[in-house]
Amino acid sequence: MSAKPKIKDLLDESACEHNKTKKATCNTPTPGATTGGCAIDGAQIALFPFADAAHLVHGPMTCLGGSWETRLTGTSWTGRDLTQMGFTTDININDVVFSGEERLAEAIAYIVSNYSPQAVFVYSTCVTALIGDDLDLVCKQASAQHGIPCVPVHAPGFVGGKNLGSRLAGEAVLRHLVGTLEPEETTPFDINLIGDHNVTGDMWQYKPLLDELGIRVLSTLSGDGRISQIRTAHRARLNVIVCAKALVSLTRKMHEQYGIPWISCSFYGKRDTSNGIMAIAEALGDAALIERTRQLIAREEARLEERLVPYRQVFAGKKAVLNTGGNKAWSIASALQDLGIEVVATSVRKSTEDDKVKAREYLGEKGVLMTTPATQQAKIIDETGADLLLAGGRSLYTAIKKRIAFTDVNQEKKKSYGAYNGLLTLAEDLKNSLQNPVFALVGRKAPWEK
Ligand code: SF4
Repeated sequence: MSAKPKIKDLLDESACEHNKTKKATCNTPTPGATTGGCAIDGAQIALFPFADAAHLVHGPMTCLGGSWETRLTGTSWTGRDLTQMGFTTDININDVVFSGEERLAEAIAYIVSNYSPQAVFVYSTCVTALIGDDLDLVCKQASAQHGIPCVPVHAPGFVGGKNLGSRLAGEAVLRHLVGTLEPEETTPFDINLIGDHNVTGDMWQYKPLLDELGIRVLSTLSGDGRISQIRTAHRARLNVIVCAKALVSLTRKMHEQYGIPWISCSFYGKRDTSNGIMAIAEALGDAALIERTRQLIAREEARLEERLVPYRQVFAGKKAVLNTGGNKAWSIASALQDLGIEVVATSVRKSTEDDKVKAREYLGEKGVLMTTPATQQAKIIDETGADLLLAGGRSLYTAIKKRIAFTDVNQEKKKSYGAYNGLLTLAEDLKNSLQNPVFALVGRKAPWEK
């Protein structure tokens, strides 16, 4: 079997019910539009939360530039956080002509002796993939020489966008890390959390609930991940895909190879958090655990409802437009509905087919699924009389123009809106936005226009 994953196979995902839709690999740019991050960007986003690993980009310096230091959430790893180091071989014209393999081997040796990582992820780029550097061979030799896993990640930018890059990262982890170490002990309630990158610390909001129930997170790919833990992931009883489905190929293959079943859930909002925890307990299939979970949910929901009382009046009758990406199209919509806010439109521009189905389910027949939010959102705000726009920073000006409240819900935000506590944080932010007079003031006509 070739060590390199086949892109065609990764795009043909039998575990996805929308598998029959037409597939395209490369991003096809349209004039005047940027096309978002490339595959290497997606691969790094997926693997960066392994802060105890070094991340080495084998290619020109510029390939590193787009993704380095994009990760704001810290780590609970007590050692040095290597995510912030930004390693690259920075190959030159000589390497292109005579091969960059030697430079790569030297770079790995330098990193291992100076930074002592638990593993080195080596990312191929368009240039090194095209000149044919043998990443697998160099990584294999480096692993033997240094005694730590050196993992080739075959995600050069030309194969496609970020989502495919995440899949390729999952593939690399499955081939080179999972199953290479035995856990010191196992429990009947060991799970792997897959696909939660712990953006803004979402995982830290719901993991204490799992801990309280006695559900042990054996490993994560990759929220606040540890290399030694992901190597033991084959001993888990259940794989839990959190929100995004980009890593569904990984969980399907782990089911085939190790017999680990998988479920998918979200931890945004009250309903989804309760449903998610209960789905895990039910999948683990222990009657006492299910009963404990029921009690914990009842306690947490009651506590949440009590703390939401002051917000209910502020949100009564309010309408929101949501312009964010991927699974957030429905997961944040669900959280807003839990607060009593009507979601009149959500953007599905960067969502998967599965996300679109869920968005329709949450918004109902009347809700608008925006495919070109940049041009649609202002019109929809006018038509529906929306009071609130939740989006990324660039949409702030739409909110100002329309004199409605704005809240940033993209990855630049610093707070977590995950689980029960996160819903309270979201409620507080929305209340502050709705009651902030600035949006009405800056939207007024200038004195000379009156
Ligand atoms: S598209 Fe290729 S050259 Fe451009 S950043 Fe991505 S890997 Fe590098």
